[in-house]
Amino acid sequence: MIRCSRCVSDTTMAEITFNKHGICNFCELHDRFVNMHPLGPEGNKRLSTLLSKIKKEGENKTYDCIVGLSGGADSTALLHWAVQNGLKPLAVSFDNGWSTDIAVKNIRNATEILGVELHTIIADWEEMKDLQRAFLKASVSDADAPTDYAIYSILYKEAISEGVRFSLNGHSFRAEGTVPKSWSYFDGKYVKSVISETEGCFITSYDPNEIASSIEKVISWNKRTNGRKRITHLDNKIIAKKIYYLYKSILNHNN
Ligand SMILES: [Zn+2]
Repeated sequence: MIRCSRCVSDTTMAEITFNKHGICNFCELHDRFVNMHPLGPEGNKRLSTLLSKIKKEGENKTYDCIVGLSGGADSTALLHWAVQNGLKPLAVSFDNGWSTDIAVKNIRNATEILGVELHTIIADWEEMKDLQRAFLKASVSDADAPTDYAIYSILYKEAISEGVRFSLNGHSFRAEGTVPKSWSYFDGKYVKSVISETEGCFITSYDPNEIASSIEKVISWNKRTNGRKRITHLDNKIIAKKIYYLYKSILNHNN
């Protein structure tokens, strides 16, 4: 077994390679991220340019950004930072059914004290269990992937429905963005391949033939499933209205 001369990574990681100094490719990637997105004075300069851009675009809006809030330290500190720097965030939290009382209390305290509006989306517990069971049975390394997918999809949906282009994220991509792909692969095809093994659950692309064959499978499945009862406050009427105004404002802007 060979171990990186700088970090703890070793040849038990399938995708590891080493340079002539014995430093691994993940350490090199970390350095590349640090160079591309520097901290210190240069980082602060870029941040203040971005802040002005977010504020300018959000001038006539209720919110200028979305902040995902878990009740943990990173996202709470980020929300605090956003308010301190004069942004108008909408806080969005997702409860996959496993949220602790402390997390829920932290979210409530933070948003109340900072005077930020909060949208909470609660997962359909039966559906969430099905998804997580599928990932556990598949024995993949990221058993809680359904939660990550749900978080990002909810943040995008909220941003679209509020007509906001910026979503702030409490996450260290320099440290966390360097893990091997086999540990962190993230796209719709992956979910599909895991979920499609789940009984009674069929995910399709927009291809009419695939949709038709999935409908056939659902009919022949002949058992009741939970449907999509979740995301209750984002009902179709609200979404339709918001998308309508969003398109209208884009068209007016282009004219
Ligand atoms: Zn290393």
